[in-house]
Amino acid sequence: MLPFKLIYADGYDLNLGAHVFPSQKFRMIRDRLLEQGIAERSDFLVPEPAADEDVLRVHSREYVRKLKTGTLSEAEIARLEVPYSRELVEACWLAAGGSILAGQCALRDGWAANIGGGFHHACPDHGEGFCAIHDVAVAIRRLQHDGGIRRAMVVDTDVHHGNGTAVIFGWDETVFTLSIHQENNYPFFKPPSTVDIDLQDGIGDDDYLGILEKHLHKAFQDFAPQILFYIAGADPYREDQLGGLALTMEGLARRDALVFEYARRNGVPVASALAGGYARRVADTVSIHVATIAAARDAARQSARAGA
Ligand SMILES: [Zn+2]
Repeated sequence: MLPFKLIYADGYDLNLGAHVFPSQKFRMIRDRLLEQGIAERSDFLVPEPAADEDVLRVHSREYVRKLKTGTLSEAEIARLEVPYSRELVEACWLAAGGSILAGQCALRDGWAANIGGGFHHACPDHGEGFCAIHDVAVAIRRLQHDGGIRRAMVVDTDVHHGNGTAVIFGWDETVFTLSIHQENNYPFFKPPSTVDIDLQDGIGDDDYLGILEKHLHKAFQDFAPQILFYIAGADPYREDQLGGLALTMEGLARRDALVFEYARRNGVPVASALAGGYARRVADTVSIHVATIAAARDAARQSARAGA
């Protein structure tokens, strides 16, 4: 049994068919965690969809209305880069509910993982880059609204810049955002996060980990979050179809362990979400996301030992 909860719903599947976004990965990750004995059925919680009230703390009323009534323009759907469907909308509300629940569980248990979400390109008034609703921002706003936290940190290691996160929290001193990404990649315009780490093409494990550690060290010196949301994209992998970095699976596991180690040392609860992953073999993307959960398990056990 894991020392924390995993949040998952079958409805996370966006039903995209042959799209480059492998939306079947959510179910595959759940299955692999069970097959490998990393998790048991009782470790999983099924989220409720977010309430509209929660979504509206981040997104505009007009955009939410268009999403819910199927009245986005063709240009807006093109920018989203996924076909519009009823299932898509339900999946997004569910993912946001999942990140809210992950945040609540993390505050209670120290750790939690949403086996979904991480839709970091979604902006207040539009969706883009496969992301319609910014689940992590919705979760942070809900936790702040409930009074459970005031200060949150977002560490985003997806290969793509977290532009939605940067826009949403741009002027907000209660939320520290760090994005480490490939500079020469989507999105073209990268609004400033609190800390942006623009990486050159083809960076490998050791260089990446050295740079990340330096910035994590400084981030935790500068800011004392009450929760860390970790957006653990699988797409810095060297065989990713939409990424141009060169991390190995081992390097990605070390990346996860590094982020968790900083959170653990600073006594900060962690809620993680998946974000992107477009490896040529979907099974590789699944392996990388599963390894993030295994790294969280190891870090959580270590903090339990340290606290005992
Ligand atoms: Zn990505």
